[in-house]
Amino acid sequence: MSLKVKNILDHHRSDFQDILVFESESHGNVLVLDGVIQVTERDEFSYQEMIAHIPLFAHPNPKKVLVIGGGDGGVLREVAKHKGVEEIVECEIDEGVIKASKKYLPNLAKGYDDPRVTVKVMDGAKFLEENQDSFDVIITDSSDPIGPASVLFETPFYDAMYKSLKEGGIVCTQGECMWLHLDLIKPLVDSIGTKYTSVEYAYTTIPTYPSGQIGFIVASKGRSTCKVPQRAATEELLADLKYYTPELHSAAFVLPAFAQRAIFGENKN
Ligand code: SAM
Repeated sequence: MSLKVKNILDHHRSDFQDILVFESESHGNVLVLDGVIQVTERDEFSYQEMIAHIPLFAHPNPKKVLVIGGGDGGVLREVAKHKGVEEIVECEIDEGVIKASKKYLPNLAKGYDDPRVTVKVMDGAKFLEENQDSFDVIITDSSDPIGPASVLFETPFYDAMYKSLKEGGIVCTQGECMWLHLDLIKPLVDSIGTKYTSVEYAYTTIPTYPSGQIGFIVASKGRSTCKVPQRAATEELLADLKYYTPELHSAAFVLPAFAQRAIFGENKN
């Protein structure tokens, strides 16, 4: 998949990574970190909606939500659609990404406008170490395990998220791709399965990510499964979505046989 560059809007190195924003011929503005496409205006909604609404609807009454990473603001935008949520904390390591998104990706960065949002600019792993707070839902919207996000794909980080969850809490993390990264997904799911009550894997389709899709590791503290929405979405909220549906929530966990076997060692979904 290649995108034709129409115009370079910003290109600089922050303290953490190379930040590139360009206007594409076909997919609107595009954010690239260390050479990896993070979001395009044309198809970002698939990822932002699924990584946010799967845990938020799998929880019966989420009040306090933590987003780790998510510098473009797209996940914040989706979390803010849940009127019952009272507090949203974002912990993003690189203020350069936030600034670039506010300047060039206004439809994503509008997530920062919600009064319930507090932004901490620091490493997510460090934040969890220092923060005794607890959350109903933690969403780790991270870049790939190269550079600053490597720590977010390791078991100690999942242990720290577990500690930061309230009873009944749910984590949903950027879980790479079943076509490319089973050697990362499988050991991670196995290792966190010893601590979390449920560990499941869902995925969405998104043309501009490698192989055209990306997955999510969905794990809970005290729930048997996150595959079924625990409350009905309002018509108003559903009308504001372009990808997530209650039916797709459950369907997203139905994996092709090769992935089901490789990750969970069994045929049944
Ligand atoms: N949707 C994209 C994907 O799936 O690859 C991710 C989007 S978002 C831009 C990823 C964010 O994670 C970036 O803003 C990056 O700075 C942030 N990030 C990487 N490592 C981090 C860390 N250790 N703590 C907090 N944020 C981190």
